Amino acid sequence: MVLEQLQLLSAITHIDNELAELQEELGDLPYEVKLLEKEVRMRQQAVDTTQKHIDDILQTRANAKIRAQELLDKEKKLSEQQFNVRNNREFDAITKEVESLKNELRDIDKTIGSTLMTEENLQRVYDGQFEDMDDARMRLADREQELNELSSEHNEEITSLLSRRTDLLAKLPKNIIVQYEHIKEYHNDTTVPVRKNCCAGCFSAVPPQRIVEMRTYKMIFTCESCGRLLYPEEMQTNT
Ligand SMILES: [Zn+2]
Repeated sequence: MVLEQLQLLSAITHIDNELAELQEELGDLPYEVKLLEKEVRMRQQAVDTTQKHIDDILQTRANAKIRAQELLDKEKKLSEQQFNVRNNREFDAITKEVESLKNELRDIDKTIGSTLMTEENLQRVYDGQFEDMDDARMRLADREQELNELSSEHNEEITSLLSRRTDLLAKLPKNIIVQYEHIKEYHNDTTVPVRKNCCAGCFSAVPPQRIVEMRTYKMIFTCESCGRLLYPEEMQTNT
């Protein structure tokens, strides 16, 4: 009974080791993909912010142009009125108004000129940011493809290992499964042999008396040092 359980546990551990190896082959790829996704997001935000600034500048210029047209129309009307004034006072009043109009027009010209310069600068910034974002996107696409190819190569193997694992686990009592999964949180090689009187997981010495008891297969022993499940070196394993 215990012998059979230990054999099952050792077989499951073997599967877990294979799964871990497959995972390791993916290496830093999943992490790299995550980092690149973040980079693309941040670069996209920068591009959007610059675009928003450009839109604001264009809006400012459009408003300025509308105001300039209004002023020009008004100026034209005032010039016409100036022909029909009845006295000098009226003439002076209109002259003054035209003067103030012209001042405002000069300011608007300056505003339009400065928006042109700002737009040019922002456009340069935008182009650079867009190029960087595009570059990050392409790097991400490359890495994603690499990860997908590698994952799908492994997928079949992983699926078959997982299904074998489930079958083997089903043959074990619930309490042992719980214990196994608990130890696995700390050690992937959950079940290990005792080699040269030491735990093959952490290399701590196992008392000879325990090894003697272990060989009677009456109960499952754990390493006092690391908590891994132990079995005698000479036990026949299924893998
Ligand atoms: Zn140990």
